[in-house]
Amino acid sequence: MFNRRIFLKAGAGVIPIATAMDALRPFSTLSAEETVVAPRSGSSPELRPKLTSLPQRMPAIDPAAEPWQKRVRRVGQSNMTEHDPAVMNVEEWADYWHSAEVDVIFISVTGILAFYPSKVKFHRHGKFLNGRDFFGECIAAAKKRNMRVVARMSPDLNWEDALEVHPEWAMRSKDGSVQFSGEEPRLFKTCMFSTYMDDYIPAIMREINSLYDVDCFYTNGWPPLGALPVCYCAVCSKLPAAGTPAYWRVFTERVLDLWQRYDAIAKEKKQDSFFFANSGGNVRGGPNLDRLGKVAAWFQADNQGRTYDDAAVWGCSLQGRVCNAVLDGKFAANVTAAYSTGNPGWRNASKNPAEARMWLNESLASGMAPYYHFVGSENGFGEDRRWQKVGVDYFRWTAKHDAHFATRRSIANIGVVIGQSTQLLYPGPATVRSRAYMHETMQGIYDALLRGRFAFDFVHEDRLEPERLSKYRALLLPNIAMLSDRQCGQISNYVQSGGSIMASFETSLYDENLNQRENFGLADLLGIHKAGNVIGTNGNPYYARIETPGEVPLHPIPHPILEGFTNTNWIPGAENRIPLKPVQKPVLTVVPGFVRYPPELAYPAVPHTDEPAVVLRESGRSRVAYFPGDIERTYWLTGHGDLLRLLHNTIRWITNDESVVHIEGEGFMEMFCWETAPGYSVHLLNYTNPNAHHGWMQSTYPLGPQTIRLQLPENVRVKSVELLQAGQNLPFHLESQILRFTMPRVEDYEVAAITLA
Ligand SMILES: [Zn+2]
Repeated sequence: MFNRRIFLKAGAGVIPIATAMDALRPFSTLSAEETVVAPRSGSSPELRPKLTSLPQRMPAIDPAAEPWQKRVRRVGQSNMTEHDPAVMNVEEWADYWHSAEVDVIFISVTGILAFYPSKVKFHRHGKFLNGRDFFGECIAAAKKRNMRVVARMSPDLNWEDALEVHPEWAMRSKDGSVQFSGEEPRLFKTCMFSTYMDDYIPAIMREINSLYDVDCFYTNGWPPLGALPVCYCAVCSKLPAAGTPAYWRVFTERVLDLWQRYDAIAKEKKQDSFFFANSGGNVRGGPNLDRLGKVAAWFQADNQGRTYDDAAVWGCSLQGRVCNAVLDGKFAANVTAAYSTGNPGWRNASKNPAEARMWLNESLASGMAPYYHFVGSENGFGEDRRWQKVGVDYFRWTAKHDAHFATRRSIANIGVVIGQSTQLLYPGPATVRSRAYMHETMQGIYDALLRGRFAFDFVHEDRLEPERLSKYRALLLPNIAMLSDRQCGQISNYVQSGGSIMASFETSLYDENLNQRENFGLADLLGIHKAGNVIGTNGNPYYARIETPGEVPLHPIPHPILEGFTNTNWIPGAENRIPLKPVQKPVLTVVPGFVRYPPELAYPAVPHTDEPAVVLRESGRSRVAYFPGDIERTYWLTGHGDLLRLLHNTIRWITNDESVVHIEGEGFMEMFCWETAPGYSVHLLNYTNPNAHHGWMQSTYPLGPQTIRLQLPENVRVKSVELLQAGQNLPFHLESQILRFTMPRVEDYEVAAITLA
């Protein structure tokens, strides 16, 4: 038969026996009758991943040829208050950060309050400044200790006297009224499309350049993160409607235009100076992150700690993955608040040390430079000084291992498309209009990937070129609703060239302008056809019925994505789904939802349909899986193990169970693996903690042994494997290029640094 594929199932896995014709064949719906399986003996152990070799190592890079910020390993900041010129001891301040071995320090110029005798009109002097050059004294103290200086500005707010002369500087509400700060009503919000940004900010930058030797410029509080500004001033009224894709493009243009103009001003003083701004916002970002990544010399992730709407512990790692997706190896730092982030949050009280350390750990593990930050220096150098030892101890430890923390490229074989436009602009399906919708979707896939210990990167939807995707065995598209025709074409090309994908729910149902398509943009690739609008849940969500595949006598073996589902005819579906037209011999079918209460009526009116609950296809090396339900988000909302198992099985199936790094051991953790200049590094972050999903870490619950296996490239030999936290060398085995070693214990964080011979 033309589409026939043969599987041998033997103990440790599923081995497809491809024929030479496979690569030439059109996609076939995987059919049960075409699957011949041998019975598995005994219980079903977890599939053992097949290790694939790491790529040849990158050529050596001369550190001296790189921009200076690439050598920055530690960043510090005491965020200065108006009162500091009256009470802060500048020498003590500089001594502290010097003792923490920071390479660069942020010092406030600001824009709201001048920390030097500024002559720029409306740059109000702080009331305790009294003509003193506080900024200049801080620079001198930092430079004396060989720390570089970032001149920090805040262009987001100004005072009423400026408003009287420049009413056009203000952000306006729909009724024309001025938007003021929610906490300090004497300060109005400045509009980024106004001349405030064209005239006022450059005037301050040029004044700083004329008076001081700073190394670069930074703006706090602009551009906005995670949400787009809403302003009805005279300029903004002429722009596309707020929150639309068209507005986002104009917003991005404005941000990048100002960014590049400010950068040119920075370079008027010296060529290796530059401008950078507040960034971060995780997968939502602010401006288009693909474009920002091409412009930014320093990605400053303003992602300081856990807040109510981002409660999972991996918030900083997730930000690091976003940076890696868009920076092409350029410098990123993530700021960790030593103060109490959250709602409510205390600006001047230290947070739990275990929580602060985990955020610093995640910065390092995900490839960013750790940046430690406290606000204000009340009563000399702080009413609360507990944060200081946490930072010094941590930074001094990292300073002993700088070579291993400077990453070159990630080791991963799965790419997760982050869909920034979907994250920022898509309002959720018609059944659930919620800004939290995509946040929950991302948390669901992230949690599932960590629990499966998969090695993955993020991929921005505007970076789907073949040369970027070739490292990935599979791409995941967790409800990436908005995809342009071009992006759909790129994903199709990726699959045609041998890649695999897993997609869900409304993926590709909208174009880049949020216009809904008649059918999915990826319909042909996924082998699906939309049969109706989104169906939500009223009571009991739908179920996915396991369709019995071809029968081998006495041993009906299900498809590999159903591995482990025994003693049940169905598994949970998802909260929302898109009805599809029937496909040939589906593996799972939809049992429509019914009432949950009263229990008398909690049974399916229609127990069996031909509506698919998953669609699977394969051709050659490529495997394609599509779930019409929002299973990643439903998993996040419920924690249902069946959904987790289904996701894990499916990811293993589309990757053909191939892996670039394998870690065996107990516990819930996040793993990063990097190529470094000395060799490789494997980072394990221990999230086995009652506070992994809520509240801050209070203490650590150490993990037992973790055995790590990697297949090194040809001709690579290993000199040592060192645990950086435990401070010990490990025995290791290297045979047929497979490196194997065991970490005996993982506290909150451990790094295995592999040095090559
Ligand atoms: Zn405006």
